[in-house]
Amino acid sequence: MARDYYEILGVSRDADQEEIKQAYRRLARKYHPDVNKEEGAAERFKEINQANEVLSEPEKRARYDRFGEAGTTAGYQDMGDMGGFADIFESFFGGFSGGGTQQTRKRSGPARGDDLRFDQKLEFREAIFGGEKQIRISHLETCNTCAGSGAKPGTKPRTCTTCSGSGQVRRATRTPFGSFTQVGSCPTCNGTGQMIEDKCDTCGGNGLNQVTKKLKITVPPGVDSGTRLRVTGEGDAGQKGGPSGDLYVYLFVQPDQEFEREGINIISEVKISYLQAILGDKINVNTVDGKKPLTIPAGTQADTVLTLEGLGVPKLGNPVARGDHLITIKIDIPTRISGEDREVLEKMLDRLKGNAAKGGLEGFLGGIFNR
Ligand code: ZN
Repeated sequence: MARDYYEILGVSRDADQEEIKQAYRRLARKYHPDVNKEEGAAERFKEINQANEVLSEPEKRARYDRFGEAGTTAGYQDMGDMGGFADIFESFFGGFSGGGTQQTRKRSGPARGDDLRFDQKLEFREAIFGGEKQIRISHLETCNTCAGSGAKPGTKPRTCTTCSGSGQVRRATRTPFGSFTQVGSCPTCNGTGQMIEDKCDTCGGNGLNQVTKKLKITVPPGVDSGTRLRVTGEGDAGQKGGPSGDLYVYLFVQPDQEFEREGINIISEVKISYLQAILGDKINVNTVDGKKPLTIPAGTQADTVLTLEGLGVPKLGNPVARGDHLITIKIDIPTRISGEDREVLEKMLDRLKGNAAKGGLEGFLGGIFNR
């Protein structure tokens, strides 16, 4: 990860714009390559400029602050090999600082296309079993008409006369610290080094077109919210024949009414009657694999957790291994009881009282059922 911008400028996180400006000026004067010939000074100067570019703009600074915190939250690191939110942070950050430096980057050669992000919602079961998903994305593709040159077919881009094709111009600037030569992007050709006289009609000279495309993505079993899938080469096309960026699909799993996930286990609740709890029973319960039999042992207490092995979430990358389905037993005590049932229960209560001396549930059950 990049060094902290506040650290680079030597200011506190709550420094105001004036403090940042002062710190930047002081450091820029000290490390400017025309002044400071020490090893590493140029690198340092670049860092200082980068930090200033972000921190001097309130909007950029706010974004940096926010993602900086998200990236250091311990909880996000747990997702490890699955590529969780830690990756989202890096991707955001990379995209945004990259955008900042792009203006000063030499653009005359081929450049790799940008990575793109696409958010995809998944149903609870889709995340568990995986599957194929159709998505529609919008990305830049190399223009077919001009093969990416930006020039009308039959014509060719010319070398820019302002910068002689280098894409850069030197400008002498006077500042309070002395006179500096600044290298900037050529204003005539926008740093491309080339001028297009007859622009391609299809792409307007960009060499790239924004295109909507349908893609089929394969979701592996066991993904969760925060899992990131990379689709190689489906980001924006590169400029001047540079490679395409990648598409990152971020998954968001919708909650289910019945089931919840706890790591690779699925948890749910099932309600049984107090009689089933006392006597035991065999019931069918819902699982992500459909109805499955579950044995309720006699004398099951409220909130007992029963396990259906191997009916949980498949391990990402090793779907043969699955977690368990854990079922919490809730016992339904009726609030109304019919006259006939009441008679039976009252008889049992009398017996319970009579057997109280013999003690506890065993006496109770023995008294009722052993005849
Ligand atoms: Zn074109």
